[in-house]
Amino acid sequence: MAADLASITGMTTPTGLLIGGQWSAGKAGTIPVIDPGTEDSIAEVANATPEEAVEAVGAAYAALPGWAATPPRVRGEALRRAYELMIADADALARLMVLENGKALKDAKAEIVYAAEFFRWFAEEAVRIDGIVKTAPSGANRILVQHQPVGVAVLVTPWNFPAAMATRKIGPALAAGCTVVLKPAKETPLSALAVAAILSDAGVPDGVVNVVPTATAGPVVSAMLADSRVRKLSFTGSTEVGRVLLRTASESIINCSMELGGNAPFLVFADADVDAAVEGAMIAKMRNGGEACTAANRFYVHDAVADEFTQKFAARLAALNVGHGLDEGVDLGPLVNSDTRSKVAELVESATRDGGRLVLGGHAPDRPGYFYAPTVLDNVPATAGILGEEIFGPVAPVVRFTDTDEAIAMANATEYGLVSYVYTKDLRLGIQVSEALESGMVGINRGVVSDPAAPFGGVKQSGLGREGGHEGLLEFTETKYIAVDW
Ligand code: NAD
Repeated sequence: MAADLASITGMTTPTGLLIGGQWSAGKAGTIPVIDPGTEDSIAEVANATPEEAVEAVGAAYAALPGWAATPPRVRGEALRRAYELMIADADALARLMVLENGKALKDAKAEIVYAAEFFRWFAEEAVRIDGIVKTAPSGANRILVQHQPVGVAVLVTPWNFPAAMATRKIGPALAAGCTVVLKPAKETPLSALAVAAILSDAGVPDGVVNVVPTATAGPVVSAMLADSRVRKLSFTGSTEVGRVLLRTASESIINCSMELGGNAPFLVFADADVDAAVEGAMIAKMRNGGEACTAANRFYVHDAVADEFTQKFAARLAALNVGHGLDEGVDLGPLVNSDTRSKVAELVESATRDGGRLVLGGHAPDRPGYFYAPTVLDNVPATAGILGEEIFGPVAPVVRFTDTDEAIAMANATEYGLVSYVYTKDLRLGIQVSEALESGMVGINRGVVSDPAAPFGGVKQSGLGREGGHEGLLEFTETKYIAVDW
């Protein structure tokens, strides 16, 4: 199986646990990795036990003083080399990602470039960890403020962006001087292991980055969070699991950054450039086949342009080439697994029961793999159940509105608050609406907001903290205040 993988990707991918610079088979057997486009097993990856995860914490703790004392320029240069190695291997890494995640090759290539960019960005940020020196208001002393590495960080990542969610955490952690234990999603451990091998090739010392794939995430992560040597948890995944981990982390008062679920509204106002809105909708909905926390989940379209928007959007979706992510010209691959596909199918059925009109799709193609056809639903009532759930698939429910305040109220009627999209030619309206939307990020006349140089994150139940930008680096630091009488 491993030989097949190497011949398809053109690279050798490690499949063991990485602890203290040593790759090992692990004590609890292996986890099969499934190609969602064929339903076949493509590799077996080592399955870490809680004891092995704690061993990885020990390795990260042992490597911490040396790495924290390594000059920021040297830490940055290692990240910069990792960026260059990822770009040099982009084709092979993208093929590997398609095999374990299912996404179309062009989406996988885009993710590798995006993922590598976190290493380049944080290579630059490593040398910009500023502090403050000021005179106390009383004049009696000076106030010194420094940012020190927070310590050993546990990183838990989802399957939907198997490389970028890892680099978005490893980049700032290493730049700040922290050491890490990464627990990737069991569906997609190969990309994370490949990234770890690249960091090692780039000269990152043994023990600074450890990786523990596991089929038993709960006990493994709990064991690490119970270890007092761990000072940071950075989690990306569902709100449901995030809530459980916040509870666990509260026992040891661990510093937490949480990137959780989304339910992005996509607002198209009456004066919008409809063709531009359709173009943006294609990206906001279809990047990663809809399996993105930033995916447009609810389309609120002004009555005056709703017919034109829905018809043009459905025509673009109908023209997409659905197939195995590695096949030539494919735009949309399968969903990650059969449970995800069942959930998407149930949501579409519930939307039609709630009164939505099926314009396109609404079925799973009859072929191996976890495929679901691009789907558009029009005239979905604002109260429909589908609007309250993360769809995580290629399904676009359209709700019509006539009044700006009504559109804002509907957009905000969710416990999530990650990202929103607004289409209007009136920038004043765009900014006004953006300020009223309860989300951490807004795209105005853009279907994508993600940028390693910008602070990514949500409000409400979409999370705590920010990744990317300078803010992403500060998440891996503690503020130290020193009062000095000099
Ligand atoms: P998930 O919450 O099921 O899993 C995420 C990670 O947590 C995986 O590594 C998983 O193995 C682990 N996990 C699961 N149960 C656990 C437990 N009890 N204890 C410890 N770890 C546990 O999410 P998913 O299905 O892998 O990913 C999809 C979700 O991730 C969606 O909700 C999506 O919106 C969210 N997401 C958010 C962002 C963001 O930046 N806000 C980015 C990507 C994905």
